[in-house]
Order: sequence, then C-alpha cells, then structure tokens
Amino acid sequence: MKRDILIGLGVGIFAFLLVMGYNVLPIAMLCLAAYFLWTFVISRQVLKTGNGETITSTTVNFEDIGGQAIAKKELQEALDFLRYSDRMKALGIRPLKGILLSGPTGTGKTLLAKAAAKYTDSSFLSVSGSEFVEMYAGVGAERVRSLFRRAREMVKREKKSSAIIFIDEMDILGAKRGSNVSHHEYDQTLNQLLIEMDGLKTDQGPNILVMAATNRPEALDPAILRPGRFDRQVKVDLPDKEGRVAILEIHTKNKPLAFDVDLEAIAHETFGFSGAHLESVTNEAAIFALRDQAKEITARHFHEAVEKVMLGEKLDRKPTAEELRRIAIHESGHAMLAESVRPNSVSQVSIRSRGNALGYVRHYPKDDLYLYTQAMLEEQIMVALAGALAEEECLGNRSTGAAGDYEQALNLVEKMLQAGMSPLGVTDVSLLSAEQRQPVTKDILAELENRTKQIILQKKDILIQLSDILQEEESLSGDTLRTYLQNVA
Ligand code: ATP
Repeated sequence: MKRDILIGLGVGIFAFLLVMGYNVLPIAMLCLAAYFLWTFVISRQVLKTGNGETITSTTVNFEDIGGQAIAKKELQEALDFLRYSDRMKALGIRPLKGILLSGPTGTGKTLLAKAAAKYTDSSFLSVSGSEFVEMYAGVGAERVRSLFRRAREMVKREKKSSAIIFIDEMDILGAKRGSNVSHHEYDQTLNQLLIEMDGLKTDQGPNILVMAATNRPEALDPAILRPGRFDRQVKVDLPDKEGRVAILEIHTKNKPLAFDVDLEAIAHETFGFSGAHLESVTNEAAIFALRDQAKEITARHFHEAVEKVMLGEKLDRKPTAEELRRIAIHESGHAMLAESVRPNSVSQVSIRSRGNALGYVRHYPKDDLYLYTQAMLEEQIMVALAGALAEEECLGNRSTGAAGDYEQALNLVEKMLQAGMSPLGVTDVSLLSAEQRQPVTKDILAELENRTKQIILQKKDILIQLSDILQEEESLSGDTLRTYLQNVA
C-alpha cells in the first residue's frame, strides 16, 4: 500500500517537473533502474530466507491417530489412487491431484497428512499458506514453483515414486480471489498453484499429491475445489467420546498411570476437546505428577490438568474478603441452580481464580449431544443467570462479575431465535432489525430470570450456607456438593 502511494507520488512529481520544462528523463531512468534492482534483490532475499517449508521423513501411522475413523477411511481410499497408480492408469482413471482436509484446529489434519505420506511411501513436504504471502510481487508465485520443483527433486533424491505436498492454512493462500487488500500478489500466488496442479501428470515424472488443510473451507476460492484440483474433501471433526478415549490411550501409552485413572471418565468430561487439547491434558497431568514428585499420574492430576486446559492457569489474584463472599455466592448460585434443573450435572465448583474467571462451576457435558431442545437451552440460560441473581437476592445488588454469564445467555437466546423457538417462530434471523430482535430477547430473558429467581428465593438459606462452605473449602467436587445439598434438603 505504502509502496503504491510512493510510486504515485514519484510519478506526480516527475510529471510536474516535466510540465515546468525541466529535463527529468535521465533522473527518471535512474530511479526506475534503482527501483527494479531493489525489488529484484529484496525478492531474491525473501525467496532465500523466507521459504519456511519443512521437509520431514514422517513416521506417523494411521494407528497413531485416535478416532477420526471416517476421515481415515475416506483418506485411505483416496490414497489408494497413489498406492496402486498402475492399476488406476490401466483403467484410464484420472490421477488424484489434491485432497482438502477441513475441520477445527488441533483435530489432527497435519497428522493425517503425515500418515498419508507414510501409507503411500511418499516424500513429504510441509508448508504453511502464510509463508507464501509477501508484499513483493511475484515472490509467492515463485515460491509455489519452487515448492513443486523441490518435491520432484526430493522424490528423485529419496528414490521414491511419489511426493505429498502438505499446505497448512490453505485459506490464506487460497482465499477467494479479489478478497485480499493487496489482492494482486495473493491472486498471482493462487493462480500459480492452480497452474502447477493442472500441470500434474502421472505419466511424466513422479506422482505429486497436494494435501491442504483449512478450518475455513467456506473462505476458499471455488476454483480450488473444481474437479481435477482438490476434488476430494475430507472432514476432520472434533472427536466423539470413543475418539477421545482412543486419543487419550495413544498419549498415555508412554506414561505411568495410577490405578484410579479412568480414561473413559476423562473422555466423558472433555466434550468439545480437540486431539491437541487432549494431548495437552495428558502432558499437563504428567507435569502435575512431577511437581508432586509422584511416580505415577493419578486421577487428581488429570482432574487438575482438565481444569487447566479448559479454564487456564490458576492465578495468584487475591480478592478482598468482601469480594470473596460475593464470588462464593455467585458461584453457589450457578451450582445450586444447575443441580436443581439438571441433577448430577456439576463436576466442580470453585472460587479460585483461573484464566479470566474469579471463580467457576464446571459441568459434566450431557454425553455427546449434537441437538438441544428448547428446555435444555432454557435450563442453560437459567444456570447462566443464576450467579447475578444470587448476588442480587443475597447481597442486594449485582456486580460486573456477571458480564461473561450474560454474553453466554445472549448467545443461547440467539440460538433459540435461529431454531424458531421464539415467539417470532421460524424466521430468517439475519433479516431481523435490532428493533424486532430486542423485545423478543428481553422477554425471553425476563421470563427465565423470573423462573430462576423463584428457585433462588426458595433455597436462599441453603445457598448462603453453601457459599460459607465454599469460602472455607475454596473448591468442592460435584459429589461433595450433592452430598451437602441432600443433607440439608
Ligand atoms: P491446525 O488446524 O491448528 O493446524 P491440525 O488439525 O493440523 O491443527 P495437528 O497439528 O495434526 O492438528 O495436531 C496437533 C497435535 O494434537 C498433534 O501433534 C497430536 O499430538 C494431537 N492430536 C490431534 N489430533 C489427534 C488425534 N486424532 N490422535 C492423536 N493425537 C492427536
């Protein structure tokens, strides 16, 4: 951008001097030559130093990847094009040039690409989409050419018959053309990739397969997904419970586990975790065991690790006694309401600061659910509102500590609107104006606040006692909380 302004300014000055009758031709020629020399030198430098592609001999097998059964199966089927290319050729089948892996971050897309290279005995080159993006015209396109050149050289050097080029963050390199600010350079780079892929032929030289990963497939230029380019798309989703158990098993294989560790139970608690999160849980649990100088990793270490990965590191914040009382009442409100509307759902309630939270209640996910009924959403909203309402009923006013809860409640109301669960019925939510949306949202929240308040008023004494215990203990497990609630009921 700046460069364009400078060029424009330069041209303007020269035009002005020319009009004024000065002979600016020799200076103009000199400037032009200097500019080209500068661009050439810089782009060479960028090519030399910035090309961060990594070449690895991969040792990952499909067995090292937990869960993802469908993704693995689809991928293996596609890879058979490369493994049995002679058979494919005999039948006149067009070679497969690209596979796109799409899914949330940390779900194992890079692992799958590495396993694909091992499975097909291919050379493996890995590069990130962001590495192609430079402000210097032509550098990205040259990098793409260099990438394919290197892949061919590598196959020869390693005496293999095929190579897999893995491009991570494909949405940066392959965003819809014209959508970037300095779109000329982006578009040139993407065009070059498409040219290279169109040029891939199996009957000349080695087979090259491009695998790309993205978590925003909708941002990709449709030309990328055209048949003959990335014509296989494999979805790599967050693991289900079975997948989470398998991933935990893989990452605890080299770790000594105590008898009380139950991987199924950990998988149950970690709904929504990616493979990367789960790997982090096993690692953090081992670090907690090391801190305790324990020889084995226990269930308690895993419990701490899940909390750390889910909510962040414990902090040394020291709220005042008055603040602590308020936090305890707020969290007791959430916990008590959760147990009222969904018994056995609380896993932990705590007034220790972690991440951004001054206290927290952790819930057991209701197994792996992909659909929510209106009643479930309403219960969740009530639990979210209960903290502030408990403060109001027990202390006479609310505090800023509920901002996150309101955000959560509003997101849930939005879900209800989208699912046609509001008085507006089934409607295109994106067409609603703020004036249409606001009263409906307000009514839903007011009605749920009212219901929540009734429960809190009924159980106010229990809530205050619970908050006193919480101030003494700092943290209560779900089971301890339930025992207490049963005893006072
Ligand atoms: P991103 O989109 O952020 O690049 P990704 O989907 O490519 O992420 P990976 O880099 O493959 O994710 O995974 C990161 C780490 O998480 C892996 O090195 C591994 O330790 C762990 N992991 C992720 N998924 C799995 C899985 N299915 N099985 C075992 N480990 C996994």
